[in-house]
Amino acid sequence: MVYKLSAKSRVVIKFGGSSVRDSFSEALRLVQKLYEGNEVVIVLSALKGVTDLLLKLAESKSPEFLKEFEEIYLRTIERLGIELSIENEIRELKFILRNEKAFPSRKAYIDHVLSFGERLSVKLFSKALEDEGIKSTPVDAFYLIETNGSFGNAKVDLKKTKDKIWIVEEILKRGRVPVITGFLGNFNGFRTTLGRGGSDYTASVLGRLLNARAVLIMSDVKGIYTADPKIVRDAKLIPFASYEEVSTASMLGMKALHERAVEPVKGKIPIILGKTNNQHLGTLISKINAGMPILTYKIINENLASIGVVGVSEVNINAQIYKRGRNWICFLVKREELENTLNAIHEVIFQ
Ligand code: ASP
Ligand code: MG
Repeated sequence: MVYKLSAKSRVVIKFGGSSVRDSFSEALRLVQKLYEGNEVVIVLSALKGVTDLLLKLAESKSPEFLKEFEEIYLRTIERLGIELSIENEIRELKFILRNEKAFPSRKAYIDHVLSFGERLSVKLFSKALEDEGIKSTPVDAFYLIETNGSFGNAKVDLKKTKDKIWIVEEILKRGRVPVITGFLGNFNGFRTTLGRGGSDYTASVLGRLLNARAVLIMSDVKGIYTADPKIVRDAKLIPFASYEEVSTASMLGMKALHERAVEPVKGKIPIILGKTNNQHLGTLISKINAGMPILTYKIINENLASIGVVGVSEVNINAQIYKRGRNWICFLVKREELENTLNAIHEVIFQ
């Protein structure tokens, strides 16, 4: 008897909006490289800035925003030199904009409008892969990922989604690369979204259900830093962080990874964060602790912000404590003092 064993390991790789918009060829190169020895599953965000634009479009229904949306994609298609029609999607989008009343709620209508960003991304990327000689199939996660009915911030139903994962298995079996929309789901036939930044969550759900060796989250930053490097100049890259540390940091506002992304893979599958541009892999999320505090922040309103410090229970600083947990502490600060206090706390901790 002959047993057919697959020697290939499976990886899920998610590209963020800036990778698809500005580092498209680097993203393609990385997929080509991984494709040689692995089964690759791709998850994509909308092009950078597009989800914000679609939000404005859903709310205003303004023809200018519609035109801007269409032009962003047409320009990208032209720049990449691929042949692709987006007419069907634009026609559907116009129809949806005229028919908000057909939806059970305004949020359900908005989620449908938002879906077009990711849906066009996967068509584009998949076509570009084919042009490079890699057979690929775009997948709209509406047909794959089942969620609850929290439009705008839906939670994935792992059990129901597991029943449909054969769709991806089937594509892989044929030696093709599935290119799947991040951020999108389905609730009773209506489109849902998983909350801002939700493509990370899609990638980890797929990593879990496909039993992947690793989930790669590629973006325009190398990984998780001790603080937002755009605000704290001395912030350091954290090479290792535990599932626990990262999910706490995300809960307290860290943007590098979606708040729910750790949960599906926790204790089972590593998440690796990296930068598309120079293929630098910066942070490994596994059972290994960072041993380094992570500073996070959240803007509460125009006057107030909170600063979270994960990995410590005490910080020697004169600021009002807002909340605290076993291994983290959260301060309340004035919005205008946020940048300074973040830098001050960072200095106290890492002096
Ligand atoms: N495009 C969505 C957003 O901008 C989801 C994502 O990028 O992960 O939030
Ligand atoms: Mg993100």
